[in-house]
Amino acid sequence: MTARILVVDDVPSNVKLLESRLLAEYFEVVCAHSGAEALKICSGGTVDVVLLDVMMPEMDGFEVCRRLKSDDATQHIPVVMVTTLGETSDRVRGLEAGADDFLSKPVDDLQLVTRVKSLVRLKMLTDELRLRTETIDNVGFEPGMEDDRRGVPPILLIDEDIRSSSAVSAMLQGRFSLDVEDDPQAGLFRAAEGGYECVLVTSNYTTYDPLRLCAQLRALDRTRLLPVMLVVEREEEAMIARALELGVNDYIVRPVDEQELQARLRTQLRRKRYNDRLRSSVSQSFRMAVTDPLTGLHNRRYLETHLPKLLARAVARRRPLSVMMADIDRFKAINDRWGHPSGDDVLREFADRLRQNIRGIDLICRFGGEEFVVVMPDTEHDVAEMVAERLRVAIASEPFTVDGGKNAIAVTTSVGVVGCADGNDDPADLIKRADIALYDAKSKGRNRVVASAA
Ligand code: GH3
Ligand code: MG
Ligand code: MG
Repeated sequence: MTARILVVDDVPSNVKLLESRLLAEYFEVVCAHSGAEALKICSGGTVDVVLLDVMMPEMDGFEVCRRLKSDDATQHIPVVMVTTLGETSDRVRGLEAGADDFLSKPVDDLQLVTRVKSLVRLKMLTDELRLRTETIDNVGFEPGMEDDRRGVPPILLIDEDIRSSSAVSAMLQGRFSLDVEDDPQAGLFRAAEGGYECVLVTSNYTTYDPLRLCAQLRALDRTRLLPVMLVVEREEEAMIARALELGVNDYIVRPVDEQELQARLRTQLRRKRYNDRLRSSVSQSFRMAVTDPLTGLHNRRYLETHLPKLLARAVARRRPLSVMMADIDRFKAINDRWGHPSGDDVLREFADRLRQNIRGIDLICRFGGEEFVVVMPDTEHDVAEMVAERLRVAIASEPFTVDGGKNAIAVTTSVGVVGCADGNDDPADLIKRADIALYDAKSKGRNRVVASAA
């Protein structure tokens, strides 16, 4: 894992020191000697993590951080404040300015490397999501980082020491809604049940390894993306380093400072929400790209990417697979007589009846205007023929109501059914044969099923 780190400090020897340590870890390093220079470099879009000195003339680190975090183009770049004072009030100020983490001078090697590595990992994830959103070019989506103070976010604390957990409880009162679990396995279970915005894990277990719990939280699908923060003793350096390597998002050192804890939690929540929004936008755009807006069924594009997989699986497992293609009879006449919007109503109702007459695991899609394809895995040819006949009857037996119930239209459909032929088919062949069977049904008088044997 390599990344480009920007080191910002007005004192050249400080820059040199951090630079050489980072170079030793094979990071790429860029340097800036003032806040203004740092902002300029960041706006270029190639920086992965910023190490930012607090005390600088003209523009101090807090201000640089605030500017980075309020600019859409740079807000996702993780910022580590480097402070000489090491005072809590400074840390809190930094976190309030939007900093993701801080280090105190003299900078400890191990901390430097583990913090930077874990932030780089985080940045990679965010970058990946940002890239996908850009690719899809989702209009009107702006994943701001600003909405971090709404409601009372639910937090889970896993801690076996009741005195320490009630102290944390008191600190978060009113701002966060805290659940406490003293048993680690029960805690893992609760985290996986969902609903939490962050999990706090304490290091003070007597018979249990808290790192195991962190690793499990990272391994489970349901908790993989949940922020985890470790509460540790100052001297537990090795544990901190291991925890960050395992993907723990942050840690806080005892004695826990109330303001620092709150600020760190807020930082985690802000990040989580930003990523959640990116992710849901990606999946929503993906859904839109493969869904037919009129009927809500999958579209042809989805069929074209999915049918090959279903077919390959059927062939590999020597299981049958059938495909049916249904086309509404004389649909053009329906449009001509009742109007295009009524035609749309018919298509929607047709899709509903189709859904009601096939199994959940079958893949239905709107193939074209009034043409629908259903792929039925694990289905023998004669069973598929029965399903097609059931669909035909379901369409023909009951008129379609359109225009909000004002008119009723008699609709029929013709259906072609084919099965996959001993692994000799490719997906396009299968569709072509279904189309031929459908054409056969049309020419034999419509409102019928033609099942052509493989
Ligand atoms: P056949 O029985 O041979 O299938 O005759 P048909 O009239 O159904 O077939 P044809 O392919 O001639 O006409 C299909 C019509 O479907 C023409 C097209 O305008 C209409 N159509 C396609 N997409 C839509 C749609 O989204 N909404 C509506 N209302 N009509 C559509
Ligand atoms: Mg038609
Ligand atoms: Mg047609």
